[in-house]
Order: sequence, then C-alpha cells, then structure tokens
Amino acid sequence: MSNLKQKILDLQHISEDLEPTEAQRNKYITQVNNYTNSFINELKDTNAYSDEKESDNVFAITSKKKTLQEILKIYADEVAAKGINPASGGHIGYIPGGGIYTAAIADYLADVTNEYSGMYFASPGAVTMENELIDWMKSIFGFPKTAIGNLTSGGSIATLIALTSARDKHGIKNANIEKSVIYLSEQVHHCINKALRIIGLEDVIIRYIELDENSRIITENLQAKIEMDKAEGLNPFLVIASSGTTDTGAIDPLQTIGNIAKVNNLWYHIDAAYGGFFILTESKKEAFKGIELADSLVIDPHKGLFLPYGLGAVLVKDKASVYHSHHYRANYMQDAIGDSMPVNPADVSPELTKHFRGLRLWLPLQLHGIAPFVACLEEKLLLTTYFRERLLEIGFKLGPEPDLSVSYFWYPSNSVDKNIFNEKLMQEIHNDGQIFLSSTTIKGKFVIRLAILSFRTKLDTIDKAIAMIDRVRKVVEDSSI
Ligand SMILES: *Cc1c(COP(=O)(O)O)cnc(C)c1O
Repeated sequence: MSNLKQKILDLQHISEDLEPTEAQRNKYITQVNNYTNSFINELKDTNAYSDEKESDNVFAITSKKKTLQEILKIYADEVAAKGINPASGGHIGYIPGGGIYTAAIADYLADVTNEYSGMYFASPGAVTMENELIDWMKSIFGFPKTAIGNLTSGGSIATLIALTSARDKHGIKNANIEKSVIYLSEQVHHCINKALRIIGLEDVIIRYIELDENSRIITENLQAKIEMDKAEGLNPFLVIASSGTTDTGAIDPLQTIGNIAKVNNLWYHIDAAYGGFFILTESKKEAFKGIELADSLVIDPHKGLFLPYGLGAVLVKDKASVYHSHHYRANYMQDAIGDSMPVNPADVSPELTKHFRGLRLWLPLQLHGIAPFVACLEEKLLLTTYFRERLLEIGFKLGPEPDLSVSYFWYPSNSVDKNIFNEKLMQEIHNDGQIFLSSTTIKGKFVIRLAILSFRTKLDTIDKAIAMIDRVRKVVEDSSI
C-alpha cells in the first residue's frame, strides 16, 4: 500500500472514536437517561439555589479521557448542583421558563441529524418549519403575513435585529446620529441599551418618559417630549414600549403609544420578551391591545413558552429594513439563492450557520397541543395573586397590583433602616436556597422581587416559599435585636 494511503488509514483508525457503535450509543443514552430521570424526579426536593462555587480545575481540558459516567458525575456535582437551578419550580427570581423535557428531545433530534437551518436550499423542511412557527407568532400578535421574522438564541439578539432595522429604515448614521432621538422608559431591559451601543447608536439622544405608579409610560409626557424635540429641529425616530417589564411586569399603554408613533412617523418597537405569550390567556389578552401596531416585536419562547434557554424571536413588518443589514450575497453562496424561494433565516439575522432551534418549539407544540401552555400561563397569573395574598397575611407589604406575574414586596420592619432589613432578608433567602427570589430597587427602596413563570412552579411551591420567607424573616428579626 502507498505511504499516503497507509497514513490515511492510520488516521481513520484513530478518528473512528468519533462514531460510536450502536451498542455504545445505546449505552450512552441509557446512562444519560438514568441521570436525567433522577434529576427530574429529585427536582421537588432539590434547592433552587446554592451559592457554592465550582471546584478547582474540574473542567480543565487534558489529553486524558473520561468515561461518560465520570463526565455525568462532574456535570451533576459541578454544574447542575451549583448556582441557580433554572429547571426547578422554586426558581421564582429572574424570569424563568423551566425548560420542558420534550424540547430537549427535539434538540437531540436536531443535533443527531444536524440539519442546516440557515438556508432553504440546504434544508427546505427545517426552514419551512421555522417559517411556519414565525407565521404562527405573526397570527398571535396580529402582524400581517408580509412581516418577516427570525428565531434567535434569545431576546437580546432579537432586539439587536429589530433595532438595526429601525436604524436602517430611518437612515440613522453619520452626522444625524447625534440629532436623532429615542423615547423609552427607565424600566426597559438593559439589552436595549446594549443593542444601541453595538449598532453604533451610543450617541443618540435618549429621552426617558415619566412613569405612573405602576411603572407604565405616561403617554402625555411622551407626546409632549416628541413635540419639543421636533420644534428644536431634532430627529425623533424610535419609541420603545414593554409589554411586561423585567422589574415589575408592567405593560405600557401599547395602543396609545402606537398611535403616537404613527402620527409622528416613529418606528415602534415593543419588547414582549417576558410577557408576550400571556396574550394567549383569556384573562390578559385585552392588556395587549395595540401590540399589533408595533413595527418590531421581541418575544422569548424560552420564557413564556417554558422552553430551555436558547429560543427568542423577532417579528418585523418592514422586510426591506431587515434585509438592508442582514441580507448579503457572497459568491460562494450562489447555489443557495433564488428570489422565489422562501425566506432564509440567514437573511434575517447576523447568523449564517445556526442551530436548528425551531424544532425545540415545533415538536412540543405538536406533541402537547397549545392548551397546556395556555393553562400554565393562566396558572402563573393566579399563583402570583395567591403568593401576594399569602405575603400580606404574614405581614409583608406589596408593590402595586401587577399586570402579569412579576411583582415585589418588602417587610416593614421596625428597624431604623428598612432597606438594610430587607437586604438581610434577601441574603438569608439566598442562604436558605430552597426557593430562589431576587431583589431590585424601586424608587430608592430595596425590594424583593418574584417572577413566576416556570412551568414547574405550582401551588405547593408557593406554600413552600411562604413558609421559608416567614422562617427567615424571624431569623433576621432575632439577629437584629
Ligand atoms: C429576558 C428579557 C430580555 C432579554 O432576553 P434574553 O433572552 O435574556 O436575551 C429582554 N427584555 C425583557 C423584558 C426580558 O425579560
């Protein structure tokens, strides 16, 4: 045999390790299945938070191989057991989704078949499925069929796409950046500020609109500010509303802001990353009136549809404005183009090669139907009311009636500095770890924040949370005497 062939065969022998045999695959799957089953079975009794840090050097890459069992043990001890447990229903701190199991099965399928979902040419099935999901979202939010959309890794990248489109539609560049004005609420998610910097709009003028006692935009104030800016020769071009703010779950007056945007020729962006899917509920759908007026909309199925992290979405009405920055033709892609072809995800996003993330939403929707998702959202709303009622009973003060499932509370202690008492309380809740809550500062007041969105948060989770909060309150009280 030639020297060349022999070398190739030698390498083939070594690299064969990358294609496990069927017997090995079965063994791996059984081991993983055993681990994930016990993980889920034990979730109810596992803490939602541990402040333990990772051990030294456990993740170091060395040439020494490990068995899958050894690897699973490292995973369980060093990853799953530390920090916040986002799969736990006890995670009611940052906005959680939980991560439904059947989405993981979809990810497994997508990974084994490794579908290329960036271009229709490469995988008409995968791309059509993703476009079908985007059409479904358009119908939910009253967007026209001609709108365009993308399944992103999350709300932040979705926001990046939306705001880039707003920038390009209004030609915000060069000298006019410093004269252009964006209107938003101080309660917008910080991914908006990040996106503006990333897309070169750090130097635009930002006007913060005053908020009412429920942290909603006061629209008279918005209209007045736009008029003032126009009179001064500035260039108002974008207004951003939230339907479900991160801190307090507030829904801005979407319809009125939409009308103001239209009259003043502003791009209207709505951040519905957290709250968007509550539009599916009977009890809240009214609150979303006007969402259909948005030029761009961000929603996060990894929040409101309980998927594991890694799925956001953006919808944009003006296709040309999206294509301006995201659609690019390289010579080496000439086989993949054709004007009559369906929308390519790669033309609507900074990504070219991407994970086939649509399957993790499509498969669960097909398997479970929509009803359990909607029931779960309604359940979260009622659990929020229940949690607040119970907090009142044990002597806590509550923030205003929430629009959705995020709210806050504090303890009116007799100590001189109420903030310090509640900070200690937060610390003790984290030390306990059974249930994970977070904190925020509202008008200078330190408050504890609850965000109920995990599909695994149930009535007994809230009872457990109340018992824990009551217990640690006494601990803090005793320690501050
Ligand atoms: C979570 C969230 C975002 C950011 O989305 P990611 O998926 O975390 O990137 C933006 N806006 C709101 C209101 C959010 O709740």
